[in-house]
Amino acid sequence: MRVGIGYDVHKLENNIPLILGGVSIPHEKGLVAHSDGDCLVHAIMDSLLGACGLYDIGTYFPDNKDEFKNISSLKLLSKVNELITDKGYEIRNIDSVIICERPKIKPYIDLMKETLSSVLNIDKELISIKATTEEKLGFTGKEEGIACQAVSLLNKKESN
Ligand code: ZN
Repeated sequence: MRVGIGYDVHKLENNIPLILGGVSIPHEKGLVAHSDGDCLVHAIMDSLLGACGLYDIGTYFPDNKDEFKNISSLKLLSKVNELITDKGYEIRNIDSVIICERPKIKPYIDLMKETLSSVLNIDKELISIKATTEEKLGFTGKEEGIACQAVSLLNKKESN
């Protein structure tokens, strides 16, 4: 068994689509990034790569490359899934936290779990997504950005 950690932050700005966990959330602000800014998926990808002893997502998907401009982070997640599968790992579980003052995330969590589990080709119950605020403190509390943390546990399959 191997564990990996992931952490990501993106800045909120007006009139940009807000996408978290592959789900489009109606809000007046969205996350600024070279990709779609889905910081939950970014944190999960880094935790998966970390558990396999691989490098961070910036190594595989550099933010100066046009091919990754505005790309859906779900496509990147699918590529990360290939990388870890190629190394012989399978996902045991993923736990994650979205740190966000507004909007309310809870109504979208089930859809996020369904979306991510279908991309990773795993049972929905293996993914946990929680949401919290920082009580109006710091950059998430002031609605300047959203942060996400993720932990993944992977198992190396026995080779035949
Ligand atoms: Zn990111």
